[in-house]
Amino acid sequence: MRWESYPQDSYLSDINIFGLIYPFITKYCIFTIRNHHPIMLSITKEFRFEAAHRISNHGGDCKNLHGHSYILYVTVSAEEPDEQDMLIDFKLLKSIVKEQVLNHFDHVLILKRNKPNEALQALTDQKICWFEHEPTVERMLLFIRDALIHALPTTVQLYKLKLYETASSFGEWENKP
Ligand SMILES: [Zn+2]
Repeated sequence: MRWESYPQDSYLSDINIFGLIYPFITKYCIFTIRNHHPIMLSITKEFRFEAAHRISNHGGDCKNLHGHSYILYVTVSAEEPDEQDMLIDFKLLKSIVKEQVLNHFDHVLILKRNKPNEALQALTDQKICWFEHEPTVERMLLFIRDALIHALPTTVQLYKLKLYETASSFGEWENKP
């Protein structure tokens, strides 16, 4: 009888322990999934603008005035759609990006504020967007992030930006928790 009862008792004991800790395991898993993957939905809109710039500290051709046809992808996210079953109306997103970004960049000359560029400004009546840094795709992404992050409705968050400077060169910013 000893060889029959011992394994059965042990088996029942294991089940009881598992039954006790199961609710805690389940709650921990749900908590972990929610906190590691808080963003469930995102939408993206594409924008295009033309701008000229120069990278004044560049050792090569980029120090010369030249232009780019920029393509910008703006992605916003939220866990759930709103009462209209969307994260944000594309039309509203378009108007925010136009006001906060395109109005600064489209058909303008983007320059770092320094002496050579200020001398350049004196020779032209061009509309200039002054930067505190060289207007690289990286710095432009940070400008766009700062311009958009507080302009969006609180129901969504700025999740990702992708900025193409040429067909094969782009930079990205992503809101990593
Ligand atoms: Zn360039």
